[in-house]
Amino acid sequence: MPERTESESRKLLRRLRDTLAEAGAGQERLDRITHLIADSMQTEVCSIYLFRDDETLELCATEGLNREAVHRTRLRIGEGLVGRVARTSAPVNTANAPAEKGFRYMPETGEEIYSSFLGVPIQRLGETLGVLVVQSKEARSFSDDEIYALEVVAMVLAEMTELGAFVGEGEALAAPHQHPVMIRGGVGQEGTAEGKVWLHEPRVVITNPVADDPHRELERLHAAVDELRLSVDAIVSTSGVQDKEQKQILEAYRMFANSRGWIRRMEEDIAAGLSAEAAVEKEQSAARARLATVPDPYLRDRLHDLDDLSNRLLRILTGQGRDTGAAMPPNPILVARNIGPAELLEYGRKLRGVVLEEGSVGSHAAVVARALSIPLVIHAERITNEALNGDTILVDGDQGIVHLRPEDSVIAAFRDKIAMQAAAQSRYASLRDKPATAKCGTTISLLMNAGLMADLPSLAGSGAEGVGLFRTELQFLIRSHVPKRGELAQIYAGVLDAAAGKRVVFRTLDIGSDKVLPYMKRLDEPNPAMGWRALRLGLDKPGVMRMQIQALLRAAPGRPLSIMFPFVTEFDEFRAARDLVHDVMAREERLGRRLPSSVEVGAMLETPALAWAPDAFFRMADFVSIGGNDLKQFFFAADRENETVRRRYDVLNTSFLRFIRSIIARCEENGTPLSFCGEDAGRPIEAICLAALGIRTLSMRGASIGPVKHLIRQISLGDLRDLIEAEIAAGSTNVRRAVVNWLSNQDL
Ligand code: PEP
Ligand code: MG
Repeated sequence: MPERTESESRKLLRRLRDTLAEAGAGQERLDRITHLIADSMQTEVCSIYLFRDDETLELCATEGLNREAVHRTRLRIGEGLVGRVARTSAPVNTANAPAEKGFRYMPETGEEIYSSFLGVPIQRLGETLGVLVVQSKEARSFSDDEIYALEVVAMVLAEMTELGAFVGEGEALAAPHQHPVMIRGGVGQEGTAEGKVWLHEPRVVITNPVADDPHRELERLHAAVDELRLSVDAIVSTSGVQDKEQKQILEAYRMFANSRGWIRRMEEDIAAGLSAEAAVEKEQSAARARLATVPDPYLRDRLHDLDDLSNRLLRILTGQGRDTGAAMPPNPILVARNIGPAELLEYGRKLRGVVLEEGSVGSHAAVVARALSIPLVIHAERITNEALNGDTILVDGDQGIVHLRPEDSVIAAFRDKIAMQAAAQSRYASLRDKPATAKCGTTISLLMNAGLMADLPSLAGSGAEGVGLFRTELQFLIRSHVPKRGELAQIYAGVLDAAAGKRVVFRTLDIGSDKVLPYMKRLDEPNPAMGWRALRLGLDKPGVMRMQIQALLRAAPGRPLSIMFPFVTEFDEFRAARDLVHDVMAREERLGRRLPSSVEVGAMLETPALAWAPDAFFRMADFVSIGGNDLKQFFFAADRENETVRRRYDVLNTSFLRFIRSIIARCEENGTPLSFCGEDAGRPIEAICLAALGIRTLSMRGASIGPVKHLIRQISLGDLRDLIEAEIAAGSTNVRRAVVNWLSNQDL
């Protein structure tokens, strides 16, 4: 076989393009293409395999193998050499295919007479759509040039598949982006929503993967790269970043934009016949495929940089910006790979739901989605590849499931679920002004968690008695700089105004761990959740904490103020933090400023150590609030951010309940008011168990107040307590089943 030259490769691509431009059904086109590739590569066989579902590849066209095998021969991903190409997203090149490990002989194809095999993935943006194979009788290895030429052809096939050029009979030739897809992700925020897809970054569509004039394409590429470099330089110089490490990261990003290797590879792609945008996308696809296999976080970040730069470059080349001019559909559901908290807030309450390909439970986007009370599904794999603007989408935030372009029957079932939830909500609304008094006469105080002004409109509607946890870090997370004292004082005053005399507990800055400020020096900690976070950071660098306390005091002249410190581990830390409040108060007084009418200072109990602090701590604290999210992760040694373990242990585990019982006892002995403000306070079954054990104040998402109040009002907490005590005494590991049984026997 002759060495392939660039012009030959271009010739093949041009023939391919002409073939694709001819009229004909998808199948005819595929048949012509396999013929053309075999002819051009001088091999006896060329075959195209496409995925018919997530797991199965189907032979869709062939030149050289038995025609009867088309649409009959199927392989699972990983099966045979074709399946191996699909699984690894890498070429397989062998002179002796039958001797190759994993070779699978498929008699119906008649392929046993072919010795050499070259298969390359047909992939677009890291997603494998199929496999392109050439085979010949002669036992030979294909050269690097030949592999490269076949990869370039596969790239064009991927683009055309995406554009629907091969639509025909059967699953494997189904039109892309039209069939229903169900994606199982993770729960970011509960709730359900039906709406239309609104892509945060609409995909760039490439309609001209093949180009005639490589010189013109090179010029276009170079002009676009120049523009990209200028824009990256501008980002670096206007970022105002002083921190050395962050500067290094930006510099690495800039370096990539100037990387000769990256640009040279794209130049080679153009020389082989691709258009400038197809060349960018080919390298982007390769980087995404690598991303899937690289475990090293530093390298992954760099590949993400490359992906980001490629997107920018594609937008420059195609003129397709983020703003496509399309109008946002009614009931928009935002679909994105990831999104920052400020960007999400900008969309605000317009959105009905959010679906992210990445994200995490504790991510800032999740926190904002919670504040906006919109359902959020995270880890929805492939969603940005699958979804198109305007597609119908159902978001089930309760189960972490997304239905894209669902069948009518799925929509009907989903609407039933939404209607049932709406009916329940209106039932809860009728309880809004009633107390959460159980049948035994005990009343529980139900408060709301908040973090943004956006949360506060729901305070009146939810029936909450106040805000039991105001997470102040959100105001810091949504900015690109530390907020000013005056700005914060104004926000806090606005919160108190909106609460209209109801109690608001402001938690001081809880950063570090998963909550990293964009402008904060990032410490490279092996285990940030147990690292330099929250109060530890506040006490070591008291400047920001002082400023925040001043802002709080100035927001509440003549009004009661509640301050709570997060992540207190030992008494001395609490004492130091409380002393700081008193220092700042004294200073404010000296400055002649009016102080709040009263200031209470409380502590969050989030580490087991604090449960055994000296009595003096419990007497000094004006109140204690159990931060169950953190307390649970440390009690069970199960990372709340780690999907593999985070659901493994249950708060209704009797070890945890005994622990909670002992905290309640310590607070009772010392007369310390106690509340619980982790997510479990908002889950009805968990909430009644905590109340039964003796916690009289629960703080939760606004939307949970109704369901929790509804259940409390229907049961006797005394009876439930007896049941839980009996289970503990009997040696049960977990009381959930007994409680659910008991509830099913109640007259609810
Ligand atoms: C908690 O840990 O339970 C808590 C309420 O704080 P956060 O979730 O903000 O860490
Ligand atoms: Mg916490």
